[in-house]
Amino acid sequence: MPDRGQIQSEKTENIERPQQTAPGSTQATAPASEDIWVKCPACKEIAFRKEVERNLNVCGKCGHHLRLTLTQRLAITADRGSWREMFADVAIGDPLEFVDSKPYSSRLAAARKSSGRNDAVVVGTASIEEHSVALAIMDFEFMGGSMGVVVGEKLARLFDHALANSLPLVLFSASGGARMQEGALSLMQMAKVSSAIARFRDACLPFISVLCDPTTGGVAASFAMLGDLNISEPGALIGFAGRRVTKQTTGEDLPSDFQRAEFLLAHGMLDAIVPRSQMRATLSRLLAMLHRPNAKVAAPRPKAGARAKK
Ligand SMILES: [Zn+2]
Repeated sequence: MPDRGQIQSEKTENIERPQQTAPGSTQATAPASEDIWVKCPACKEIAFRKEVERNLNVCGKCGHHLRLTLTQRLAITADRGSWREMFADVAIGDPLEFVDSKPYSSRLAAARKSSGRNDAVVVGTASIEEHSVALAIMDFEFMGGSMGVVVGEKLARLFDHALANSLPLVLFSASGGARMQEGALSLMQMAKVSSAIARFRDACLPFISVLCDPTTGGVAASFAMLGDLNISEPGALIGFAGRRVTKQTTGEDLPSDFQRAEFLLAHGMLDAIVPRSQMRATLSRLLAMLHRPNAKVAAPRPKAGARAKK
């Protein structure tokens, strides 16, 4: 069990931040043509990047949902000016001194430098159409959104914060799974976050999990699937092991939409698929239905037979 002492607090200012760029804009070094055009991976239509971005990164021709960056996701989800980031200074070194083609510490430093964030999730509080929430958004661009000690710790702390403040929690996950460079320590985060969710659930507070493209591996196998409501966007890849491994293991021919949101919905693994244009309004409606801010939560449920004592 990685105790909290292993997590080194690091001042946010120590993390070198890149120059702020507009959401969705590519690196300044990228060729100009890539800035202007974007090709839909589904229908191969080429469109103006600006136009696609205005359409929430959804292809205007076929409706394919392209991935959003963390900044874009935050901008289209939270009410303007409502976001307050928390636990931004939680960081970890290289506990296993892991080296593959290059040392983990170098990979981590490069990811921090290019993203300006300490790890693959941001957590905090915000409001969604004036409903106060605890909000977590995973960053697939940060080492594939992989779940290491910091991701687990920040999420567990956010659930505890939401519990203490009677806030509902909305999580957007996008992850390739556990971070192999942190070995078993990263796998332990599945249990740590799951037990924080169990405490949160005991207080009857709502947890809405939005599984974005892609949500796989240990993240799909733990907290992303533990929402009171598990919802997704059209076409999102959601699964545990990849298609090739599953096919080799089972020896079965897999359907073409295997591990896609639509397949999971049809087989009872998701509660809804919500188009991106309706996500914010849907979350707002769900929050209104599931949570009354001033309602007393965590009241003990009456025991069976309590009435008879009257
Ligand atoms: Zn398209």
